[in-house]
Amino acid sequence: MSDWTPRPGTLGTDDYLDGNALAGPLSEVFAIDITAAVGTCSGCGTVRAIAEARLYVNAPAKLLRCPECDGVWLRLDERDGRVIVDFRGLTQLTITLG
Ligand SMILES: [Zn+2]
Repeated sequence: MSDWTPRPGTLGTDDYLDGNALAGPLSEVFAIDITAAVGTCSGCGTVRAIAEARLYVNAPAKLLRCPECDGVWLRLDERDGRVIVDFRGLTQLTITLG
């Protein structure tokens, strides 16, 4: 059972908060230099710093690819005054705080 799986009988209908409750914790996480974070590739399991991955900018969105298997770790799409970040190529992102 992963850390994200609720134990049977422990998750009731009132056991959640509005997503706004993450504003504080996420502002701390994303205020750091993300390139120092360590990612785990969902394709091959490689564990490397974001700064060691390969960034491709000649596409509609910026693509960060795994240095081992070339799988897409992160897709960053900036348009219409918004930034959309897709992290689905990483199974885990480890950030060392302060
Ligand atoms: Zn990989």
